[in-house]
Order: sequence, then C-alpha cells, then structure tokens
Amino acid sequence: MTKNFDAIIIGTGQAGPSLAGRLTDAGMTVVIIERHHVGGTCVNTGCKPTKTLVASAYAAHLARRADDYGVTLGGGAVGIDMKKAKARKDAVVNASRSGNETWLGSMKGCTLLRGHARFESARSVSVNGEMLTAERIFINVGGRASTPDLPGIKDIDYLTNSSILELEMLPKHLVVVGGSYIGLEFAQMYRRFGAEVTVVEKGPRLIGREDEDVSAAIKEFLEAEGIQIRLNAECIRFAPHGEDIAVGVECTSGAPEVVGSHVLLAMGRRPNTDDLGLDKAGVAVDSRGYITVDDQLRTSVEGIWALGDCNGKGAFTHTAYNDFEIVAANLLDNDPRRVSDRISTYGLFVDPPLGRAGLTEAEAKKSGRRVLVGKRLMTNVGRAVEKGETYGFMKVLVDADTKELLGAAILGSGGDEVVHGILDVMYAKAPYTVIQRAMHIHPTVSELIPTVLGELKPLE
Ligand SMILES: Cc1cc2nc3c(=O)[nH]c(=O)nc-3n(C[C@H](O)[C@H](O)[C@H](O)COP(=O)(O)OP(=O)(O)OC[C@H]3O[C@@H](n4cnc5c(N)ncnc54)[C@H](O)[C@@H]3O)c2cc1C
Repeated sequence: MTKNFDAIIIGTGQAGPSLAGRLTDAGMTVVIIERHHVGGTCVNTGCKPTKTLVASAYAAHLARRADDYGVTLGGGAVGIDMKKAKARKDAVVNASRSGNETWLGSMKGCTLLRGHARFESARSVSVNGEMLTAERIFINVGGRASTPDLPGIKDIDYLTNSSILELEMLPKHLVVVGGSYIGLEFAQMYRRFGAEVTVVEKGPRLIGREDEDVSAAIKEFLEAEGIQIRLNAECIRFAPHGEDIAVGVECTSGAPEVVGSHVLLAMGRRPNTDDLGLDKAGVAVDSRGYITVDDQLRTSVEGIWALGDCNGKGAFTHTAYNDFEIVAANLLDNDPRRVSDRISTYGLFVDPPLGRAGLTEAEAKKSGRRVLVGKRLMTNVGRAVEKGETYGFMKVLVDADTKELLGAAILGSGGDEVVHGILDVMYAKAPYTVIQRAMHIHPTVSELIPTVLGELKPLE
C-alpha cells in the first residue's frame, strides 16, 4: 500500500521535529520516521547524557577539593555510585525523549512512524514494507561513532559513546582511543568518577584542530587530575590480555603498550547514509558519505534536502537546528537564509570548558589579514581566582584594519557562556571597540573581555 504525504522527514534528530512543527503549522501533512529513539543522538547518546554525567563528575571533583574551600565532608573518601549517576542521567534523557514524543504527537497532521527508512526513488521511501510518497523529502539521519578497522579490533570488546552510557560499574582502567572533543569529555568524567584513565591519541597533540596553546592547556589540567596521555600513537592496535585489553600505542616515549580493563573508541563520526538507498533517489554524497548540499541545504535532487550532521556542514546540535531554521526560512518565510551566514562556534565540555567562536589563531594567520591578539590567563581573572578555578586563558583575535572580531577561544571557568558575548558582536558585524567600551558586571569572567580588547598586540 502507498501513502502520500506533503512531506517525508527521515530522522527525529535536532532538525526533523522542529521542521515537522513548521510544516504542519503551514497546513502540510508530514510523516516523520525514526528507527531508534526519538530525539536522535543529542538527546539519547550525545549532549544530554554526557553533560548530565559531566555534572556528576564535577560534583565528585568539587567534593574531593572540599578541603581547599574550607568545607568538611565528615570523613571518608569521595566515592561514586555509578548506578545512581546513571539513573540520574537516564531520568534527564527519558524526560527529554518523551517530551519530544509528546510534542510530535501534538502536531496536527504529523505521523510518527517507527522503522528504518530507505529511498525507493526520488519521491518515495519504504518503511517496514510500506511505501510512502511525497513531493518534499528531508533527510535528518545524523551519524554514529566511526569504528576504524584497526588491527585486533575484532578480537576485543570495546565501548562507543552509546554503549559507555549504559555502564553501571566503574571501569578499573579506561583507555580512551581518540584525544578529541568526545574522548576528552569521557576521559575527564571517568577519571573524576575514580577510574584510572589513559588517552591514546595518534596525533602529536590533543584536539589537533585547536590552537597549540589550547591543546597544551587542556593537556596540563587533564594530566594534573592524573589522566595519562599518550600522543603520537601512530600504530594503535588491540589484543586481549587475560581479562583486560592491551592497546598498542608505539608512542615516541613511554611503554609501547597500555593495558586497560575497558576501551572507549572515540575516533570520529560517520554519517548514517550507507543504508538509506540514496543511489535509488540519485542523491549525491562525497567521498566520506556526507550528502552534498548547497547553501540552502538542497541536495543534488530537487525536492530533497539534507539537514544536520549527515550533510557534513556541521557536527553539532546547534548546527543541525540552524539547518532547520535555514530550510524553514527559505521554504516557508521567503527569507533567504544561508549556511554561509553562520559563524563557527562550539564548546568542549571538559572542566574548565572551552568556548570557541570564529577563527582559530592558525586560521587567522592563514587568512593573510593583519591580526591583533589579546590574551589573559585565568590566574589573572578575579572571579576565576575566587572560585578556585584558574586553569586556562581567554584569547580574542581582531582584524587590525577593519576592527572586526575574528575569533575567540575562552578556555576557563564559564568559557562556554562567556564566548557568546563575542559571538553576538561578530554577528552584529560591529567593531571590537563596542565590547571594549561596554561596562560589564563585576566580578565575572566576562568583565575581563573589554580589558583583553584594550591590550591587543600584533599576532606574531
Ligand atoms: C558523545 C557526544 C556528545 C555530544 N555533545 C554535544 C554537545 O555538547 N553539543 C553539541 O552541539 N553537539 C554535541 N554532540 C553532537 C550532536 O549530538 C549532534 O551534532 C546532533 O545530535 C546532530 O543532530 P542530527 O539532527 O543531525 O542527527 P541525530 O541527532 O543523530 O538524529 C538522527 C536520527 O535519525 C535516525 N535515523 C538514521 N537513519 C535512519 C533511517 N534510515 N530511518 C529512520 N531513522 C533513521 C537516527 O536513529 C537518529 O535518531 C555530541 C555527540 C556525541 C556523540
């Protein structure tokens, strides 16, 4: 049997449900298809569960430091009840997931269909043997952990960002393979829960996409918490080792092998496009499987759009949501919003967190502009000192000729929030002097941004 709708949406991640809301508000009939949990990665195995567990880890960390603040806890070592921490995480995730389900259920003209969707043609999709047709199809299938075919990987059990969230026990020694955004959050979290943790990174530094000073500062505070970091691990391989797992690292220094009780693979993501039948619809993908889209997120086939992680234009919840806004604006509001209008921004939720906006120092240098830089260590930020959280620094980049703000890295207490003041002025396309002359609240981390902007120096 074939059912016709005005629109088909594949995936209930960060773009699909909001788009279903706008399309149904416009009077369209919509079917939205989900093969797993409503809410997608962010809600179920990404942002929400990790940030909930990061909060538990932070509580444990502060409790261990209680004495630094003159707080007494009544003796005894700080422990973690993993079952309870997981239950707290599950409650947050389940509330969000069911909130999304209720929301979708409340949309007039929206059908939520459970199952795996596959294109049969450019206008039809099959789900559980049922054929659905529509003039407009929106792909919001997201991505999953990539598991490279490393030597020995088939001989061991390993964890991914999804399966590690189901643990109710504390690994004795967690080996995190991949020293980037996802891996580092888990590494610090599990160290604070009380596990021994080693991070194995094949590159010469952590989070290689960031500036070297950012990588170095994060390495410093992770090591200060007792996390072992093995860089230049060029030949990562695995082998069972009794009850444990041996991870071959062949680093330039240190033992050639690390033996851990658990391995977390955090080596990047891949799009969920391999089992979608895109060839039947004629939708083009790039060499890594990301769906090719234009500045309005239209694919190579008219009437088909791709939103979120699967189009390779972003890898965040806010980029997926912004994709929804762009598609809805163009389709429904006669508002020509574009992907190229947005400014790169994201957080790394280690503690203290990194808030990033715009260009890195390396990118600014490469741009050929005359660049000014302002930098201040968190040890010179009153509020950070008062809170006893003085790791990190703030760095802001400015175009010497146009006075435009080019980018910022705020690594430190509240850095994930503080960076938005800079980001908003970047969107306003106002000169940096607007922030430099603004009066900020004392005592905050943000109050030092005008100071940093008053001390700009040429970037060497
Ligand atoms: C551990 C971790 C932490 C993260 N933390 C953050 C963070 O702090 N901040 C941030 O901005 N981002 C974070 N992210 C990234 C963020 O989760 C993703 O960028 C975001 O979820 C992408 O949303 P999406 O809409 O593209 O797809 P997804 O949220 O991945 O949703 C896609 C949905 O499509 C479904 N689907 C796939 N194929 C089919 C099919 N053929 N048929 C039917 N359904 C299908 C999937 O089941 C899924 O539910 C994190 C990711 C991870 C893994």
